[in-house]
Amino acid sequence: MQTSAATVHERPAFLGSTKQLLIGGQWVPAASGEAFDTFNPADGTVIGRLARGGPVDIDRAVAAARAAFEGPWSRWKPIERQRLLLRINDLLLAHAEELAVLETMDMGAPLSRTRSTVQWISQTILHFASCTGAATTTTSSHSLPGEVMALTHKTPLGVVGGIIPWNGPLGGQWWILGPTLATGCTCVLKPAEDASLSVLRFAEIMAQAGVPDGVMNIVTGYGSEAGSALAAHPGVDKISFTGSTETGRKIVAASAGNLKRLQLELGGKSPDIVFADADLDIAVPGAAMGVFSNSGQICYSGTRLFVQRRVQEEFVERLRHFSAGLKVGNGLQPDVDLGPLISARQLDRVMGYVKIGSEEGAVLAAGGARLGNELANGYFVEPTVFSDVANTMAIAREEIFGPVISVIPFDTVDEVLKMANDSEFGLAGGVWTRDLSTAHRVSQGIRSGTVWVNCYGMVDPTVGFGGCKASGYGWKGSTEHVESFLQRKAVYINLN
Ligand code: NAD
Repeated sequence: MQTSAATVHERPAFLGSTKQLLIGGQWVPAASGEAFDTFNPADGTVIGRLARGGPVDIDRAVAAARAAFEGPWSRWKPIERQRLLLRINDLLLAHAEELAVLETMDMGAPLSRTRSTVQWISQTILHFASCTGAATTTTSSHSLPGEVMALTHKTPLGVVGGIIPWNGPLGGQWWILGPTLATGCTCVLKPAEDASLSVLRFAEIMAQAGVPDGVMNIVTGYGSEAGSALAAHPGVDKISFTGSTETGRKIVAASAGNLKRLQLELGGKSPDIVFADADLDIAVPGAAMGVFSNSGQICYSGTRLFVQRRVQEEFVERLRHFSAGLKVGNGLQPDVDLGPLISARQLDRVMGYVKIGSEEGAVLAAGGARLGNELANGYFVEPTVFSDVANTMAIAREEIFGPVISVIPFDTVDEVLKMANDSEFGLAGGVWTRDLSTAHRVSQGIRSGTVWVNCYGMVDPTVGFGGCKASGYGWKGSTEHVESFLQRKAVYINLN
């Protein structure tokens, strides 16, 4: 495995000053006047300061969002909202490289990944731009008894609170911004304390595109302060939350006051199942990168890698070889495959699980160490493979959120489906086989929101994404997502 540290990019001009909150179209300091440092995970250096928003700021932001919602914005014609989204898309593409570099510096992912995130956002914007008509749809029914007709109106829901994690903030925010702008809702966004910079920069671009003041507000800060205040706020009609299952449970409790709608995209421990008849030339890199992408910091990572026993030895050997060829380093360096973990806290968590795995009796087949030398100031971990893992071990049951694969052997379809579904999570899964009936049986049998067959990790905005069990509920993307930002009203009219 090679390592590298030197960076090749200029520091984006956006970095430097303390970043303020965006409330009602104005950049303002936190009411407390406090701010906190934000770090580049590749070298541990401070790259900015973020305003420490709290409940008072959330109050102000929700009031601004409500005022904007009650203004002309929520009555914009669908075609006007569509034009706005297309303008945002143009500006996104014009600033693509700047945004990708900023995201890489802020949360560590390699530039190849953040660049493709920008392209994915563009597709997502186009998807939501095609859905703006849904908000004003009025359908009528004439099949009622007597001289009665019914109209069903759909109107934007109101103020949406968006709370997102650090593992891909630039893209993640679009699961809130897209349906908000498509329907005429307004939002208050609370990005993660570990990575808020790209979201703040993108807000400047959105203003340039003509998003009216107050339609999108951003309150940076800690989850226990700004996040919990947003989740509990009586002036918020819906919370769209992406993050851990543990926080998701707190959001559910906090939302009870005004019974706001919820969309929860939570953690995962997804099964990825390799049958002996699979084409190992594609299954090995596919399954490996199904975990190592973004250094394992993806909710749908296929971290429980079930491998049919008769190819387990060969598969693990190939996995070890593939892992050793991956380049770990500063994401700004060309050809880097894995960047750092987001923080020292996350590094400790991952290293803690590596220790637990060995103590539980799993075999450390590859990696397992923190990288030193020129990468010692960053939070880098080698791509790690455990083999001979039992589905009952902690490394097979708990979300590690790092580049750690647990290889679990199996013999039959029934056995592997039982183990795959023996998890509190239900986010995603994968199957690698050349046999069509095995592919169908397994993809139908896995209890999850998504299953990939002979591929892993594709999420198309027109198709959508969601989970079940402790991975949450609500579907992101597709037209269903837009519908969930709308309120229906039936009007019965007696024609007599
Ligand atoms: P986290 O739950 O700690 O934090 C997520 C967000 O919630 C942050 O903005 C944080 O400030 C905020 N928050 C924390 N406590 C809060 C509270 N009490 N009230 C309101 N907000 C609060 O999660 P994380 O560690 O930042 O992110 C990793 C987790 O996110 C993993 O579990 C991962 O699986 C999950 N995730 C899920 C998806 C998905 O689509 N299912 C996508 C990405 C990440």
